[in-house]
Amino acid sequence: MPKIEKEIQEFSKNLLAQSRNQIPSVFNKEWWIGKILDFSMKDKNFKLELFRFIDVFPTLTTNAHIRSHIEEYFKREDLRLPSHIRLGLLAATEGLTSTLAIPALKKNIHHMAKIFISGENTQDASKNLEKIWNSGIACTIDLLGEKAVSEKEALEHQKNYIELIEKLSELTPSWKENKSLDFNHEGRIPRNNISVKISALNSQISPVNYDESVSITKEKIRPIFRKAQEKNCTVYLDMEHYQLKNLTLSIFKSLMEESEFSQFKEAGIVLQAYLKDTEEDLKNLINFCQEKNKKVYVRLVKGAYWDAEQIWAGLNNWSCPVYLNKEDTDANYEKLSLLILENHHFIKPAFASHNIRSLSHAIIQARHHDLPQTGLEIQMLWGMAEPIKKALVSFGYRIRDYVPIGELVPGMAYLVRRLLENTSNESFLRQSFSDIKEEEKLLKKPGS
Ligand SMILES: Cc1cc2nc3c(=O)[nH]c(=O)nc-3n(C[C@H](O)[C@H](O)[C@H](O)COP(=O)(O)OP(=O)(O)OC[C@H]3O[C@@H](n4cnc5c(N)ncnc54)[C@H](O)[C@@H]3O)c2cc1C
Repeated sequence: MPKIEKEIQEFSKNLLAQSRNQIPSVFNKEWWIGKILDFSMKDKNFKLELFRFIDVFPTLTTNAHIRSHIEEYFKREDLRLPSHIRLGLLAATEGLTSTLAIPALKKNIHHMAKIFISGENTQDASKNLEKIWNSGIACTIDLLGEKAVSEKEALEHQKNYIELIEKLSELTPSWKENKSLDFNHEGRIPRNNISVKISALNSQISPVNYDESVSITKEKIRPIFRKAQEKNCTVYLDMEHYQLKNLTLSIFKSLMEESEFSQFKEAGIVLQAYLKDTEEDLKNLINFCQEKNKKVYVRLVKGAYWDAEQIWAGLNNWSCPVYLNKEDTDANYEKLSLLILENHHFIKPAFASHNIRSLSHAIIQARHHDLPQTGLEIQMLWGMAEPIKKALVSFGYRIRDYVPIGELVPGMAYLVRRLLENTSNESFLRQSFSDIKEEEKLLKKPGS
C-alpha cells in the first residue's frame, strides 16, 4: 500500500472511531425522526409515501386536508406499518383521537424541519448561529427559496440576500474570538459568509437564452457583491441542476473580470464531483485564475440532484451528465480534490462532504502539498453528521456549517433532498451510523 494511502487509512480510522461514539440526530431512534426514517429505510413504499406527504404537508391548511392526505398515502393494503408509526399517523384520521394526533403530527414535522432549517428569518436564527460559532463551527447562510417564478419574487430574493449581509455584519462582530475560525494561513477571514442560488435571482434564466441570462443575472448579483465587499462577506454561488452549470460558471468568471470587483477576494463557486464535465470545468477555472491573477474559493461537493439528473436525461434522450456508479463519483471527488490542492495558489479549497474517506483523503493530500491545516476548510450541512464535525473540531480543523434560513413551504424541497440523501442505500452516513457497515469497506479507496 502506498505511503499516502496508509496515512489516509490511519487518519480515517481514527476519525471514524471518534465519530462512532455518538449518533447523528437523524438516526437517533429515541426521537420520532429517527424512528420514522429507520422504518423508511426498511420499506421503500413507505419511504415514497412519507416523503410525498412531507413535501405536501406545509400546504395543507386544514385538519381535514391533513386527514385526507394521510388516508390517501398511508391507508394502503400493502403498507404494513409497525404499531408505533401506525398509532402516530393513522390516529390522525380516526374520530376522537385525531384531535390529539393532528397537533402531535404537526409538531413532529416541524421538529424534523428544525433539524435542518435554523430559523424562519435571520433574527429568528441568530441565537442558533451564535451557538454554532460557540461550538467551534463557522457558518455559511443559505436563504431557502430556490427558483424564482416571477421577477417580483426574484427581486425579493435579491433584497433578502442584501439584508442578510447587513444583518450578519451587525451580528457577528460581538461573537467570541476563535483563532481556528477567524484566521487561515494568510490572515484574518470574514465571519460573514453566504451561499447564493442564481435561480433565485432571475425567473427567466435558461441556457436557451444564454447571453441574456448571463447579463440579467449579473445585474442581479452585482448589488450583492457590492454589499459583500462593503461588509467583508464571503459569497459562494451554489451549483444547482446541470442545466444551470455552464451559466453559473460563465456568470461567476465574468463578474470576477469586472474592474469593480478586481479587489474582491471573497467570491467562491461550488463544483459537483458527480458530473463527468467537472474535471474540465475545474481545469478551465484554474487557467482563468492563473491568467487573470485571481484566487477564488472552490467548494467541492458530490452533487445533490443525482436522481433528478438521471431522470431528466432519460426523459429527453440526452446522454446522462452524472456518473451512474457511486464509487465513480467518490473516485472523481478524490481526483478533483488533488487537482484543487495542486493549485492552491489559485484556489482556496473547501471540501464539503460528510464522507470520512473523502475528507481524510483531502486532509492528507493537503499535508503532502504543503498547505497548512488552516489553509483548507471542511464544510458540512447543519443538522447532519454532528459526531464527525465534533471530532474534526477537536483535531483543530476549521469546519463551516451550511445553515439554511427560511419558512417551511420554500424549505420543503431542501428538507426532502436531505431526507433522501440520508436514507439512500449509498449514503456514507447511513452506512456508518445506521447500517453499521464494516470499517474496511467504508474507508477503502474508491474503485479499489
Ligand atoms: C456545505 C455543503 C454545501 C453544499 N452545496 C451544494 C451545492 O451547492 N450543490 C449541490 O449539488 N450539492 C451541494 N451539497 C450537497 C452535496 O452535493 C451532497 O449531496 C451531500 O454532501 C452528500 O454527499 P457526501 O459526500 O456527504 O456523502 P456520500 O454518501 O459519500 O455521497 C452521496 C453522494 O454520492 C452521489 N451518488 C449517490 N449515489 C450515486 C450513484 N449511484 N452513482 C453516482 N453517484 C452517486 C450523490 O452526489 C450523493 O449526494 C452541499 C453539501 C455540503 C456539505
